[in-house]
Amino acid sequence: MPRQLTSTPQSVFARRESSVRSYCRAFPTVFTSAQGSRMTAEDGTRYIDFLAGCSTLNYGHNHPELKKALIDYIMSDGVTHGLDMHTDAKARFLETFETLILEPRDLDYRVMFTGPTGANAVEAALKLARKVTGRSNVIAFTNGFHGMTLGALAATGNAGKRNGAGVTLSDVDHEAYDGYFGSDVDTAEQLEARLDDPSSGLEAPAAFLVEVVQGEGGLNTASDAWLRKIAALAKQHGALLIIDDIQAGCGRTGSFFSFERAGVVPDIVTLAKSLSGYGLPFALTLIKPEHDDWKPGEHNGTFRGNNHAFVTATRALELFWSNDDFARDVERKGAHLRQRLETIVADTGIARRVKGRGMMAGIEFESGEQASQICKQCFKAGLIIETSGSHDEVVKVLCPLVISDEELDEGLSILAKAAETVDAQADKAAA
Ligand code: PLP
Repeated sequence: MPRQLTSTPQSVFARRESSVRSYCRAFPTVFTSAQGSRMTAEDGTRYIDFLAGCSTLNYGHNHPELKKALIDYIMSDGVTHGLDMHTDAKARFLETFETLILEPRDLDYRVMFTGPTGANAVEAALKLARKVTGRSNVIAFTNGFHGMTLGALAATGNAGKRNGAGVTLSDVDHEAYDGYFGSDVDTAEQLEARLDDPSSGLEAPAAFLVEVVQGEGGLNTASDAWLRKIAALAKQHGALLIIDDIQAGCGRTGSFFSFERAGVVPDIVTLAKSLSGYGLPFALTLIKPEHDDWKPGEHNGTFRGNNHAFVTATRALELFWSNDDFARDVERKGAHLRQRLETIVADTGIARRVKGRGMMAGIEFESGEQASQICKQCFKAGLIIETSGSHDEVVKVLCPLVISDEELDEGLSILAKAAETVDAQADKAAA
């Protein structure tokens, strides 16, 4: 039996948990169970989850098939931790990833098992690009988010996060992402001009680090043409193209990798979040074989072999990526989501526009205050949903990709009602 609490859960958190805690402030309740697209709190309230571990639960909470695979593995005394030693679970994962993900897409990558967070996969990617090219400067983009460790943070735009570093964040240039100056300005062309000018002051880059859809940065999307130009620029200037697919990958935009549609082939890809399919920590850095210049253990770490994650990741690939059915369903749901969000925008004075792609879409409001009020209203009505963007002005839908049509509509109706309420309040304040 679990130990009985002697105080209320909320009081132990207030007393003992560091002030760095964050999501629990936006969703002030104590969750006790979760299944599919719903989370249940200790008071019995059932919430629809439009946050899904920030895109970590693309296949929902506690998917029964993944749970079964994990329980069977545990009950057979399968290896839980083995550093990066070879295990049968790792072999099965690698072979499944090779046959279901890499080969059908004609992709040839070596798979690097990094520490289990996305940030660690990004650190590995940056280190490797610098090692391969012998250059230190990396070109990242405005509003990009790549993680909280120093290398990844240097490539992250958000001032609030950067301020926590306590040291100078260096060796990264932040260039304008697609659409940063509006749709009339081609920022890839601007970058090309700067790279071509020996007096622009721009250091020759080791890498370009790009998200195809900026998850934390406010659901800005890179057009296929822009991405292709960036890929060509990287090649032309002897830099590696790193796509950070940590949030947009694993089916979130419709295809397994977010860059598939654009037809670019990155030199390095980072994956994490939904890779294990079950919310277990697991990250990878995929490397074109010719760039796999690591010496053994040069990027090391104790937790680079989460065998439980290998087991659930393998089952998730088998279940969802053996054919196109799942990807097609995500596309269908993404189109429906967009249409409903467009209706909310049309009906809501304070809403500016729909942003994002696939099942990674949301609404930009006039201010972060309005967006945060809407999320609060949603939570009161039983929906977990968060903001993103420079000023937290975008309400972002990141529900599990397996969500039923009914639950998706139920959640969107709560969002529509919350937007209506905050809109009415804004009208009243202006009157
Ligand atoms: N890269 C992207 C695009 C992300 O969205 C995130 C997290 O939100 C990270 C990297 C960092 O991943 P982690 O929080 O697992 O370190």
